Amino acid sequence: MTTLLEQNKIQQEFADRMNEDELLNCMRCGFCLPSCPTYIESGFQELHSPRGRIALMKAVKDGILEPDEEVERSLSLCLGCRACEPVCPSGVKYGHLLEEARDIIQQNKKQSLPVQAVRNTVFKGLFPHQNRMRTVTGLLGFYQKSGLQKVSRKIGFMKLFPESLATMEKVLPSVPKMKEMKNRPEFLPAEKKKTKKVAFFTGCLMDTMFLETNNATLKLLQMAGCDIVIPKAQACCGALHGHSGEKAKAIEMAKKNIEAFEQTNADFIITNAGGCGAFLIDYDHLLKNEPEWYLRAKAFTKKLKDISQILVDLDFHKNVSLKLSKQVITYQDSCHLKNVMKTSDAPRTLLKAINGIDYREMEDSDRCCGSAGIYNIIESEMSMKILDTKMKNAKATQAATIVTANPGCLLQMKLGIEREELSEQVRAIHIVDLLLEAVNR
Ligand code: SF4
Ligand code: SF4
Repeated sequence: MTTLLEQNKIQQEFADRMNEDELLNCMRCGFCLPSCPTYIESGFQELHSPRGRIALMKAVKDGILEPDEEVERSLSLCLGCRACEPVCPSGVKYGHLLEEARDIIQQNKKQSLPVQAVRNTVFKGLFPHQNRMRTVTGLLGFYQKSGLQKVSRKIGFMKLFPESLATMEKVLPSVPKMKEMKNRPEFLPAEKKKTKKVAFFTGCLMDTMFLETNNATLKLLQMAGCDIVIPKAQACCGALHGHSGEKAKAIEMAKKNIEAFEQTNADFIITNAGGCGAFLIDYDHLLKNEPEWYLRAKAFTKKLKDISQILVDLDFHKNVSLKLSKQVITYQDSCHLKNVMKTSDAPRTLLKAINGIDYREMEDSDRCCGSAGIYNIIESEMSMKILDTKMKNAKATQAATIVTANPGCLLQMKLGIEREELSEQVRAIHIVDLLLEAVNR
């Protein structure tokens, strides 16, 4: 419940900080409506559409509407998938508006002590510190390997948690050993004549829970002729913070990353997680009010590429023989990779180059799967509705393999497979893991 005093502060900050031109850019044409998953799954409620949310933000800024529970609900139900941006004829940067609005509300609203404690632990105590991320992943590894997981499943412990969280526990990857997580080298040479020098953004989750996928990414880059620098001083991208109203912390991490990658002097900076990549490529916007940092951020963002894009640019799929056993494969876009990094052709080009597979496009493959960071935990009901529609489309392709390009999407697709009781017939996999499998066959 937001108090009157808090509402006044929020209203004042909306008036001061929300970009008037960007809000006025929306001409209310409604072209974005069919692309918005929450508009569709809410039964076409304007309040849960991009146009509706922009109108709410404008009304709060103008003092016509109080930033009450309904406004907050509408903004928190948004996935932040940014599917409304590429289809907008006015080029409204909806994602930037949403980020600012959430930051204002979050910073001016007093949270209950338990919520504040959880937020502080996650946003300040955990994600910015890679060593602590490793420790937490190590604890998960202990839970998985010590027999505790078996016992907890046997006694039905997870039934005490919401259904989606309980199912999520089943689909978490088997985590690597602490020694493996700590042994990340700082340089790897090209396996053939060097064509490019790249710097690799490891990511906090990707370099712990999804370490194998990072290793596969590095291997493919080496095969493609890249010398790889992996700066030790890099930090979490800050996406979780930026999307959850913790902008100051996101800025702090952005500066740390810019500094770390400037020193590499690389031709490109490579990511393998659409969610991280989209936040990194927006660093110039994040730092727009600090002229010196803005320029440095611009130079950083210009070098950013997703792994699938650089592999296509370097003709990896033409130079390396790719083969898999006969199977139907489909691809689920990462919304941030497609809508913000503008990368959607490259993953498909790579997949279609694999001999032996039958690539089938899924209906609405570019519509969000409902993962959206921690959305599937905090907005579970809407997330599961979106996921059920997604699984219906995935099943229609008869694919045995669903490929994704982001860890959140990967877990969400695994969750969908588990919910549909299809884990014997269907698997979900990150594109680099599949490509490496295709190389090794
Ligand atoms: S498509 Fe763009 S201009 Fe049209 S309603 Fe949506 S946000 Fe506004
Ligand atoms: S970001 Fe996604 S969920 Fe939010 S308004 Fe845009 S299309 Fe809808």
